[in-house]
Amino acid sequence: MRILATDLDRTLLPNGSWPPDPGAIDLFNELTQRHDVLVVYVTGRNLDLTENAIREFGIRYPHVLISDVGTSIRKYGQDGWKPHGGWDTHVKLASPRWDATAVRSAVAGVDGLTEQESEHCGPFKQSYYVDHDRNEAILKTVDERVKGKFDEVIVYSFDSQSGKGLLDFLPHSATKQTALEYIADEIGASKPDVVFCGDSGNDVFPLTAGFSGVLVRNADEQLVAGVKQAADARPELKLYYAKGGFKGLNGYYTSGVIEGAYHYGIFYDAD
Ligand SMILES: [Mg+2]
Repeated sequence: MRILATDLDRTLLPNGSWPPDPGAIDLFNELTQRHDVLVVYVTGRNLDLTENAIREFGIRYPHVLISDVGTSIRKYGQDGWKPHGGWDTHVKLASPRWDATAVRSAVAGVDGLTEQESEHCGPFKQSYYVDHDRNEAILKTVDERVKGKFDEVIVYSFDSQSGKGLLDFLPHSATKQTALEYIADEIGASKPDVVFCGDSGNDVFPLTAGFSGVLVRNADEQLVAGVKQAADARPELKLYYAKGGFKGLNGYYTSGVIEGAYHYGIFYDAD
């Protein structure tokens, strides 16, 4: 079985400043039903905010939800959401030095960092808002205090909607990339049989991990630069840049996801 995995905000969800195609979400819902594909949402949102997105935009429920930037996995079925029990155990074993409280203490008092609200933090996620104008100096200080000490990864991204910098500390075994690898492994899908679509920041990891990558047309410059750099070093990476003009769609958000899924043959037209 093939996997169609996608980021939500400004990838599947048309919540940026570019024009959405009316009907693209209905088309996505229909195409994923028609083709035998496992749908995975891979998002920085928590469960509540994901439910909000499903209601607000009318996107279908996924088979699997990788939320909180990869730190949490749930499956969706007839009885609703079910947490993935194996994932937490896996992360603890794979990142034994991870300790959210210790990370919190290590960065306490760094000027320009504000801890995010409790619903955005968790046992495997310690998150901050960053004064984006000063992000280089702030991230340098953060590196000095944290890097390499807690089996962590430090992920910085810029939210173009709010103008805020977002900083996540995660166990190195629990990111969008590793969670997706875990799910692919579990269902026995090879990496190229997993299509991953993204638009910004932390999507760089799954996009350069050996999956079949799709950058929607509105992908931000930071991501495009990061992905191109990785592709120069590793020409075997499979990457597709949605450009629009496909089936009358414009390539932004959902339309870029559909275009990418056709490119890799996950969706196809019966003739
Ligand atoms: Mg996004």
